[in-house]
Amino acid sequence: MRILISGGSVAGPALAYWLNRHGHETTLVERAPGVRDGGAAIDFRGTALDVLERMDLLGTMREHQTRMDSMSLVDDSGKVVATLPDEAISGDLEVLKADVTRILYEATRSQTAYLFDNTVTRLDQTDSGVTAGFESGPSREFDLVVGADGLHSAVRRLAFGPESDYLRHLGIYGALFTTGNFLDLDHAGLMYNTPGRSALAFAARGNTELRVGLSFVADGLAYDRRDREQQNDLVAKAYADAGWEVPRLLEAMRGAKEFFFDSSSQVVMDRWSAGRVALLGDAAYCAAPTSGRGTSQALIGAYVLAGELAAGDGHAAAFDRYEQVMRPYVERNQAHGRAAARFFFQQPDDDTVEALGEEVDDTVDLPDYLGTTARRA
Ligand SMILES: Cc1cc2nc3c(=O)[nH]c(=O)nc-3n(C[C@H](O)[C@H](O)[C@H](O)COP(=O)(O)OP(=O)(O)OC[C@H]3O[C@@H](n4cnc5c(N)ncnc54)[C@H](O)[C@@H]3O)c2cc1C
Repeated sequence: MRILISGGSVAGPALAYWLNRHGHETTLVERAPGVRDGGAAIDFRGTALDVLERMDLLGTMREHQTRMDSMSLVDDSGKVVATLPDEAISGDLEVLKADVTRILYEATRSQTAYLFDNTVTRLDQTDSGVTAGFESGPSREFDLVVGADGLHSAVRRLAFGPESDYLRHLGIYGALFTTGNFLDLDHAGLMYNTPGRSALAFAARGNTELRVGLSFVADGLAYDRRDREQQNDLVAKAYADAGWEVPRLLEAMRGAKEFFFDSSSQVVMDRWSAGRVALLGDAAYCAAPTSGRGTSQALIGAYVLAGELAAGDGHAAAFDRYEQVMRPYVERNQAHGRAAARFFFQQPDDDTVEALGEEVDDTVDLPDYLGTTARRA
């Protein structure tokens, strides 16, 4: 089949990888002008490691581990007041998101046609295919379209309706940016928490960089998603009276090349497919950064979606089975994401503390889809 994927971060390239291996023809459209840099460090947990192994990429990912030695909480003056246990800060394997994206891009670029600096603007479905219109270039025909284009998915908007129908805001906003390591952190991170705010800075790329996250509690902020200065002002206002190194971090934020700002939201949908269009990763079931499991979900979802399509009994049956395999896992991750958001930013009630204390089941019982392809071949 000819399959169009929208979004080239984690879910999109991972899906392209598996579709290529199952013998499909893949085109991937990404709005950014090239492979995206910047962003957080992300964790792979549980079954996601099995998927990386099946992709022969586990070794490469391990070579790019962040190797953080410690994460400590500091007070106003910068004095360390607590050091967090390893399992609280990183999963089984922690890698910079930019490295994950680049590794997946390298693993797919020879077989997948990448269209950077472009986006889908129209999707017209018929019984036999989908015509996709693009911001630049002519319309093209595909058998299926998959939206792996994140929280603000264009494919979801075009095929399922406005995002306000599906986004559940958790009452938190966050900025992420990269700057020089002026705190001289050595494979370490520092966190400074005050009521309703959590500032984080950690060393990255052999201690040459500082990756900074500034999150805060707020309800329904009105801002233009393309207006960086306005977003910088919102963060600066939320942190106006903050201590520690926050004034220097705010200054660095305004000069940072890579800057990201968004609400912490979940995506909740009854169905992840409509006809020949399906959704994957954050576009379909974002669990919010507080879950620490968005990347694992995206990776496992890509493996399952491609694998079910390989069964060869039609896309509708494959999309149904993809949902059956993924939904219980996604619901666990979303529940954890909500509980962690309350724990870090609000006064947690007893149920929240209890929910967070429970170990999250990071396993999905994965069928052996590679065997399916081999049998069909
Ligand atoms: C601050 C922060 C911390 C996080 N920490 C963790 C963690 O510790 N562990 C973890 O597992 N996950 C974490 N996550 C979540 C994780 O980054 C996501 O869940 C994961 O990247 C999902 O991947 P995705 O490919 O579905 O979506 P995204 O990574 O959001 O990628 C979407 C892609 O689509 C592109 N795109 C958007 N719109 C269009 C369009 N119209 N046309 C074409 N392309 C488009 C974007 O440019 C982007 O490349 C964190 C996220 C944030 C923001």
